[in-house]
Amino acid sequence: MKKESGTATKAIHAGRLDPRPEGAITTPIFQTSTYEYHGEDYHDVGYIRLSNSPNHVVLGERLAALEATEAALPTGSGMSAISTALLTVLSSGDHMLVQDCLYGGTTSLLNTEFPRLGISHSPIDPQKPDSWSAGLKPATRVVYVESLTNPLVQVADLEAVAAFAKDNGLLSVIDNTFASPANLRPAELGFDLVLESATKYLNGHTDICAGVVAGSKELLAKVKVTLDHLGGVLDAHACFLLERGIKTLPIRIQSQNASAQAIAEYLEAHPRVAAVNYPGLSSHAQHQRAARLFDGFGAMLSFELEGGVEEAEAFLAKITIPAHAASLVGVESLMIRPAPATHGGVAPEERARSGISDRLIRFSVGLENVEDILEDLGAALKE
Ligand code: PLP
Repeated sequence: MKKESGTATKAIHAGRLDPRPEGAITTPIFQTSTYEYHGEDYHDVGYIRLSNSPNHVVLGERLAALEATEAALPTGSGMSAISTALLTVLSSGDHMLVQDCLYGGTTSLLNTEFPRLGISHSPIDPQKPDSWSAGLKPATRVVYVESLTNPLVQVADLEAVAAFAKDNGLLSVIDNTFASPANLRPAELGFDLVLESATKYLNGHTDICAGVVAGSKELLAKVKVTLDHLGGVLDAHACFLLERGIKTLPIRIQSQNASAQAIAEYLEAHPRVAAVNYPGLSSHAQHQRAARLFDGFGAMLSFELEGGVEEAEAFLAKITIPAHAASLVGVESLMIRPAPATHGGVAPEERARSGISDRLIRFSVGLENVEDILEDLGAALKE
């Protein structure tokens, strides 16, 4: 496979075993915890927790090719990717600058575990690069953002974040879960470490928990040592399922991008809809930036109906195709009201400050026929 092959070709072939074992077209599952020892360095010994089975190695190369990084490492979950990467590059006494509205699990990690370890953070407004220097401390090591925020799908000034980190000797770290490498490759914008919950787009079938850390060979070698110690490894069978899911990511996301755009436009034009957040709409505050940086606007949108929580709940009760559930961007459409669920742990004033109203509904658009979803929405929106 040529290095400059297209994304779909990379998703299917990058890093595959050569020669193919027994001629197998897909990577077999190496369901063994340990391997014969031939006197190699103890750190290179074949052992499942050390992420060095053929399943892990193939997946690492495939993920690196997709993320446009030198190296990548699969992990046991998105949270394992985030905690392992951050604990690799941060020590007691260090400080991080973080986007002011992050995935709840990350916020909770930073607020509950990290202070015990002496790692502090302060928020930055991702739309105001001029204000970031004010938050710098001598101990600041990392600036941390997400490619699209949850659930308002806002786009930070990503190019400015990478440049700010370089100018100030910081590491730039981004959670790319909401975009996936099929829609955005943050390493191409200058980010040092790219993290993802592969539970979402990369696997795409709502059936495993996995994560990814991607970056330079030098950084990834250090991240691997931390992962080996913390133990958040991906098991061989989940590696196999993730590799299978990745093969269809480019084609899945094309359909999801197109369906979400059609749905966002439909909702925006509907008289019962008060607001729609989707970066593909020209009304979105960062539409121009998203159009410049992203290959597609993604499957995630959120919207508010006229009325209050009661109207939102009545609508959700009428919807038949999207399941009422958290998680996102798999093949099945999902809807959830973030306030009591995914953002239930965020204080109501904090939610209100970041623009997450109680009536807001988050919509993860799946692979069903878009005409069927639109019909379902139309019926649920009837008075
Ligand atoms: N990052 C983002 C943006 C997420 O939405 C999630 C989970 O929803 C995670 C990280 C954590 O991923 P996982 O559940 O695979 O640990």
